[in-house]
Amino acid sequence: MIENSFNNSEGEENNRMIQPEYNIEDVELEYSLRPKSLNEYIGQEKVKENLNIFIHAAKGRGENLDHVLLYGPPGLGKTTLATIIANEMGVNIKTTSGPAIEKPGDLAALLTNVNDGDILFIDEIHRLSRQVEEVLYPAMEDFFIDIIIGKGPSAQSIKLDLPRFTLIGATTRAGQLTNPLRDRFGVISRLELYNETELSDIIMRSSVILAIPTVRDGAKEIAKRSRGTPRIANRLLKRVRDFAEVLGDGKITQELARIALDRLEIDSLGLDSLDKRLLHIIIKGYNGGPVGLETLAAALGEEAVTLEDVCEPFLMQQGFLARTPRGRIATALAYEHLGMTNNLQLTIES
Ligand code: ADP
Repeated sequence: MIENSFNNSEGEENNRMIQPEYNIEDVELEYSLRPKSLNEYIGQEKVKENLNIFIHAAKGRGENLDHVLLYGPPGLGKTTLATIIANEMGVNIKTTSGPAIEKPGDLAALLTNVNDGDILFIDEIHRLSRQVEEVLYPAMEDFFIDIIIGKGPSAQSIKLDLPRFTLIGATTRAGQLTNPLRDRFGVISRLELYNETELSDIIMRSSVILAIPTVRDGAKEIAKRSRGTPRIANRLLKRVRDFAEVLGDGKITQELARIALDRLEIDSLGLDSLDKRLLHIIIKGYNGGPVGLETLAAALGEEAVTLEDVCEPFLMQQGFLARTPRGRIATALAYEHLGMTNNLQLTIES
């Protein structure tokens, strides 16, 4: 789905670099860079403070942590936070994802194999099938599951008691969760895009771990173009390091970061060609909006989900796009950044 959005040849390299979804190159990188404790986890202060209290309270009472739902755009640190919660609680974590649990039996196999207090992390929890979701309700609430064995008249329902586990669900689309599922989470936390200072801190931390000499201004330059997303920041840091080693003495300075990111065709604010096409269509095709999401998706040949999850949070954070009940609008800042004239404004003024 995401790949489709990056099929156009213009800026293809840059698009792959700044898409927030996980790619195979990230695997090794992410393992070494993932913070292990809440103290090491940069930003998301409100979420961290609350989790810290819930973790301490649960530990103090000798109880399990309530089920936790983490939501927000990809690459913001939901998986990282789940592993941190497990570390802080001193329990094991089993990781899976919504589409990987195909049948109720798969869920039963997972849940009967955890210990009391352990965490089951389900990424993309909005993609669980309805059938699996229904088995999950009593599991979350009363720690048992009913599974049907056999078919037809000889089918038997068996009740299995489960260990008292904690479920951590992650999703980019909280709105797609059914109410009964959402209601069963005691803690619901939304992760926000990171600001430039937080991203610079993340880049400086990663530079130390990866032994890349980076000056603060160099980190800031990378941060500015990372779309508020740590996964992208870490990926760009790695690419800029290549330029620093070949074009300079290995040190990432502001100038070097600028040269590298310009060569990678990453916009000074991190916009990729899909973001730009989106704004262009609103401005040129619909006089700046309002225009509905589905119309935009059709005009761009993209999934509405991609626009909603990947482009819009960032464009709204940057103040380029506004959502209104009648659709999306390009702001004056968007016109300015793209070097376009707002004809509507000109007409009103003249
Ligand atoms: P998500 O599950 O939301 O897609 P991840 O938890 O996989 O995101 O995070 C992607 C990468 O970004 C992690 O490997 C980690 O290195 C980095 N990261 C995310 N959040 C933070 C943070 N708050 N502080 C430092 N690094 C972070």
